[in-house]
Amino acid sequence: MKENQTLIYKRKLELELDCLRQAFLNELKRSDNSFMSALVSALEQAPPTEWLDMAANKLSPEHLPRYNRLVQLEAALCQIDIGQYGYCCDCEQEIDSSLLSEDAATQRCGGCMTKKVANHI
Ligand SMILES: [Zn+2]
Repeated sequence: MKENQTLIYKRKLELELDCLRQAFLNELKRSDNSFMSALVSALEQAPPTEWLDMAANKLSPEHLPRYNRLVQLEAALCQIDIGQYGYCCDCEQEIDSSLLSEDAATQRCGGCMTKKVANHI
């Protein structure tokens, strides 16, 4: 993938990550159990890069969609850092750019995504 194209995706991912971290924290703050408030104060004092580890296995199901998206975004940014971005995590083929422009955190090529969806039915 061209380097300047990767940079565009990187910026997009970083923006979404920033917004989502804020939304995630706000969502946790709204839940009214004391266990969650303790987690929120711990997260607020930690760097956001540690949030996923800290919150793992402590969330109620309603928080999982945002949590899982955070995992995806961080994984994609990590792949950019190590130069592995834009390759399918199953078959290692390049992911079609139309899929990446739709969702810059896409982890699979069209073929493997279809297979994965089919396996889950
Ligand atoms: Zn694939």
